[in-house]
Amino acid sequence: MQATAPSVSRRLLARLRDVMAGGGTAEERLDKVTTLIAADMVAEVCSCYVMRAGEVLELFATEGLKQAAVHKTRLRVGEGLVGDIAAHARPLALADAQAHPMFAYRPETGEELFHSLMGVPIIRAGRVIGVLVVQNRTMRHYTDEEIETLETVAMVLAELVASGELVKRDELVPVDGNALLPLRFEGIKLNAGVGIGIAVLHQPRIVIRRLVAEDPEIELERLKAALAHIKNALDELFSRPEMRDGEHRDVLETYRMFTEDKGWLGKIGEAIRSGLTAEGAVQKVHDDMRARMSQVTDPYLRERLHDFEDLANRLLQQLSGGEEANPKGELPQDAILIARTMGPMDLFDYDPKRLRGLVLEEGSPTMHVAIVARALDIPVVGRVKEVLDKVEPLDPVIVDGDNAQVFLRPSDDIRDIFSDAIIQRRQRAAHYARLKDLPAVTRDGIQVQLMMNAGLLLDMQHLHDSGADGIGLYRTELPFMARSSLPDVTAQTILYRKILDQAAGKPVVFRSLDVGGDKVLPYWNPHEEDNPALGWRSIRITLDRPAVLRHQLRALIRSASGRELRIMFPMIAEVAELVQARQILDLEVERERAAGRMLPERIKVGTMLEVPALAFQMEALLPLVDFISIGSNDMTQFLFAVDRGNPRIADRYDALSPGMLTFIRYVATKCEAAGVPLSVCGEMAGRPLEAMALIACGVRILSVASPSIGPVKTMIRTLRVAPVKAYLDGLLKLPDRSLRDKLKHFAIDHGVAL
Ligand code: PEP
Ligand code: MG
Repeated sequence: MQATAPSVSRRLLARLRDVMAGGGTAEERLDKVTTLIAADMVAEVCSCYVMRAGEVLELFATEGLKQAAVHKTRLRVGEGLVGDIAAHARPLALADAQAHPMFAYRPETGEELFHSLMGVPIIRAGRVIGVLVVQNRTMRHYTDEEIETLETVAMVLAELVASGELVKRDELVPVDGNALLPLRFEGIKLNAGVGIGIAVLHQPRIVIRRLVAEDPEIELERLKAALAHIKNALDELFSRPEMRDGEHRDVLETYRMFTEDKGWLGKIGEAIRSGLTAEGAVQKVHDDMRARMSQVTDPYLRERLHDFEDLANRLLQQLSGGEEANPKGELPQDAILIARTMGPMDLFDYDPKRLRGLVLEEGSPTMHVAIVARALDIPVVGRVKEVLDKVEPLDPVIVDGDNAQVFLRPSDDIRDIFSDAIIQRRQRAAHYARLKDLPAVTRDGIQVQLMMNAGLLLDMQHLHDSGADGIGLYRTELPFMARSSLPDVTAQTILYRKILDQAAGKPVVFRSLDVGGDKVLPYWNPHEEDNPALGWRSIRITLDRPAVLRHQLRALIRSASGRELRIMFPMIAEVAELVQARQILDLEVERERAAGRMLPERIKVGTMLEVPALAFQMEALLPLVDFISIGSNDMTQFLFAVDRGNPRIADRYDALSPGMLTFIRYVATKCEAAGVPLSVCGEMAGRPLEAMALIACGVRILSVASPSIGPVKTMIRTLRVAPVKAYLDGLLKLPDRSLRDKLKHFAIDHGVAL
């Protein structure tokens, strides 16, 4: 059975090639194609619908339906079975099509005679540009092989549809009347910073000229050679100094594994054996994958599919002549890259000195290219919907990573504002650099410890550039998320040791694994949860899977041999959880001691305070910890019962409210009385006005993202604590929902630089 399917399709493909290359108008050729397919697939009907402007699918050719319906029958995307195939970019095969709820009867076609239907989308460059359908009178059960064959045919047909001979190209790629007007898009922030430049469309579409092949063996050899070429390019990348270590190397190592993925290569091989050229086969598997990708919601799986997609693009480039789609020499001085998505290797194709920004139609904060972009310090905005439909190459673009917005063809006014912003940014950076070695001490002599948050080895360089006093929060989960399996004790030990080495004696607070919620690990299959933020996450996972915690703690102990080690446990909701986590730590210490390993010089253990319940156990908690850190991101979420990821309620409550600040002041007072250092390490601490309020509440350690060190230090050095504390004490009794304006005015009146 298996052996016959490819040969049938190979014969069909060879005939198709002859028809497509033959004479006549495009419509005449399309007619011949439908006749040919109907005969070959033993179907009474074969019809081709082409996408027209306004998302309408128009019947362009049919064998078997009434000819009067051609150019008359039109279906909107999402309407009827044909519209459904286009809307979901996926095939449908139905023995009893008329019983399907989506069936839309069109009397002019005479299709009531035909019971079964199989249809596939015609896809070109990731866009559905038509639908190809066969129908039979009987209730025929179409096989998977038949669906595959029709998909292959649709791919070949895509060339004819996209040629511009049937409908003008601009109908296929919708461009609305606004195309050349200035436009503003919103997305999500993937990396901060502002960039001004001109649009470079990443990987302009690769046009495949040869789809049908004579000899599968030759094509398989070509595929092998192209893969070898890509592997060599990866090896070259690995040998570069900037790739020596760091999470971006992990990402690319995972990527290298894909070049050997049996399932994926098997599918391409199968497509070659069915009669396609190597590039045709890669394109087919690639299109299938894109279509499927639209239905995948799991973020890790999507990342994997993106990586495969990137690999497919590279293979296509290689196979269709080897010419580089994005030759470095032609990159403009100030380039803003625009792409639907990007693989982790892609950014290295461009000269980073010329890249001013990156705009993606898709993307998530954990996507691999975002991790690489952060390492290269390129502003990135993701999930900018439909930007590719609206942008033209060389259009002026502004990427505002700080506010997650993108301006296309901005007006002069907007351009001036952002040019000024860039200049001011540079000036501020120079000012902060001058402050680097000055202490974070207030005008009335109160010393504040200004620490930095980190999560990547690459962040460590900012510890010294910014003059931070240490790392107040090292989020350890990123390396776990960038890999395809749990890093073992050795890998973790090496990483943590490098972090401590790079800290060069400054303290580092390692937070134990804080995954779950939105931070899903690829290799754990979490159960669907209605409320993941309140679900099985963080310390709840690591206490339930103690081996993971034990291994991490063991690696931390080993990495710090002879040095100080600080460990902090996240999401502790009750003292008993902390006791349990400490017991695991103590056992690991004993184990290492028994094995004769050198232990850390001292181990300090702390807890995050993110769940309000823990604050009602301060008496029991304080004797057990060396320090406490308020995670204001989660704390705000739980104190106000407000989802931290939901933009609809993002502004509903203010952290500068009497409730939140009273809570923090209470915790600070308890900590001070017990002599336990208290820090705040959520985003709140990094905003100067909020930081001022925290200091007024009694907090003396702030841990902030590296770009906030300068602004917060500037504020601290212009502040007097006694007056702001007295002022805040009065404010906390007020019924106001926010104290923001009052605190801001206080700062202005008292010369506090915000
Ligand atoms: C917090 O919740 O404030 C915090 C620092 O942890 P994360 O943002 O990693 O959840
Ligand atoms: Mg948190």
